[in-house]
Amino acid sequence: MIDLTRVAPLLNEGARQFLGSAQPMLIGEQWCNADSGELIDVFDPATGTLLSQVPAGGASDVDRAVTAARQALAGPWGQMTGLERGKLITRFAQRLEALADELAQIEAIDCGKAVTHARYVDVPLTANTYHYMAGWASKVAGATVGLSSPGNAHAFTLREPIGVVAQIVPWNFPLVLTAYKLAPILATGCTTIIKPAEQTPLSTLRLAQIALEVGFPPGVINVVTGYGAAAGAALAAHPGVDKIAFTGSTEVGKQVARTALDSVKRVTLELGGKSPMVVFADADLDHAIPALAQAIFFHQGQVCTAGSRLLVHRSIHDRVIEGIIRQAGLLKMGHGLEPETTLGPLISKRQLDRVRHYIEQGQRDGADVISTGLETAESGYFVQPTLLVGASPESAVMREEIFGPVLCVTSFGDEGLHDIARQANDTPFGLSASVWTHDLSTAHTMAKLIKAGSVWVNAHHCFDPALPFGGFKQSGFGREQGAEAIHTFTEVKSVCMKL
Ligand code: NAD
Repeated sequence: MIDLTRVAPLLNEGARQFLGSAQPMLIGEQWCNADSGELIDVFDPATGTLLSQVPAGGASDVDRAVTAARQALAGPWGQMTGLERGKLITRFAQRLEALADELAQIEAIDCGKAVTHARYVDVPLTANTYHYMAGWASKVAGATVGLSSPGNAHAFTLREPIGVVAQIVPWNFPLVLTAYKLAPILATGCTTIIKPAEQTPLSTLRLAQIALEVGFPPGVINVVTGYGAAAGAALAAHPGVDKIAFTGSTEVGKQVARTALDSVKRVTLELGGKSPMVVFADADLDHAIPALAQAIFFHQGQVCTAGSRLLVHRSIHDRVIEGIIRQAGLLKMGHGLEPETTLGPLISKRQLDRVRHYIEQGQRDGADVISTGLETAESGYFVQPTLLVGASPESAVMREEIFGPVLCVTSFGDEGLHDIARQANDTPFGLSASVWTHDLSTAHTMAKLIKAGSVWVNAHHCFDPALPFGGFKQSGFGREQGAEAIHTFTEVKSVCMKL
């Protein structure tokens, strides 16, 4: 039985109406259950109580959704001009903005996110991504090409929608990470099947309701809720899917890419990270310390780009650590829906066990463990912000993604920038990095030497719909956001006419 009594006073009318009852998924114009009739329980990670239920979609549901997406591609959607698509995407973005409070609450309770973060980070970034990509819809174009061989010919390229795109999305930022894919999918005229994470399907289902309300034709956006091994794997294998846009762990990403390769699907992968924050002796620490703490503790460190490794100059090591611990002590741990909460729970018991395991492992490997003693009245999957200081570069905690509020700290001395960059690059990942210095030459040189898809200077977590986002090395391939996203959802066709 779904009982929202505990949180009901914190919910606005829209969120209260949406939560508290089982939600069907969307295939074509049908809101439906899974063919199997099976359901997935969706829990509030702050209390462990049942929040909602969604269909446990499987291979036959995926098949129906792919058929609907293929039909929509051949229907009126395929005939719309880019300008018309852009207007529709703008309308969608405006509607999301109008419903920002409701969406933020649904996201906060489903993900265990602080509602103020959801309201002032997730929802605006989501809406802005649609606004930005609405502009691109009318500018998807090929080019005329001057040929190298002699002769009278006219050559040009066409840039065409890639077709049916399956999106597989993780649980940490459902609205934002869906927008990174859905906005360029809509701008380029593709159609899609979204498979949200089984832990956090709710905002995606609400998003799909809003998309139909603003006028996207049925079948353009389909949502199949389900477990990864069933619905996700069926999407990766389905011959009617032209591209997989995957965000999630490196392990599952590799599996999805292997399956997709069998039918030579296009694939983009946004995977894990172990992002370094390199703090030089000349950094403005009053500015840096709160930002460094935020970089690892925001959303409990369950952020692919979390600043999870701190490399700090020996001369400021103690001051920076003390500062970050002080900042952690200011966090307010609690239920995401409480407006003053700044640190919610982890997503699940499994994630809690994983993070605790890494903290113990770090201690066994010789790191000093420093934990805050924040209080919470809640009974969910909470973990204290923790620093692991002095772990060796080879240890698991320094190389593997923990995905929790755990900062691994190491120091450097007066070795050259190449050597410091080598230490920063010393993991299998390459998603993001930040460099903290006032020396222009150091900043530019480090930005070149660091192997990561995003390098930020005197800041961490600068996201913008215009900035391409993605990973080097095992953090993935392909880019979302910016003009790059338009390229990854289109095929280029060369046309040559002998005159
Ligand atoms: P996950 O890989 O376990 O799951 C991600 C998605 O894949 C979920 O929807 C899941 O149901 C699905 N899935 C699971 N098994 C599957 C299979 N066999 N076939 C097809 N789909 C399957 O990841 P998670 O635990 O949900 O999310 C955390 C991970 O996501 C972290 O590693 C994090 O770094 C990464 N992430 C990366 C980015 C980025 O942009 N690079 C952003 C956010 C999260």
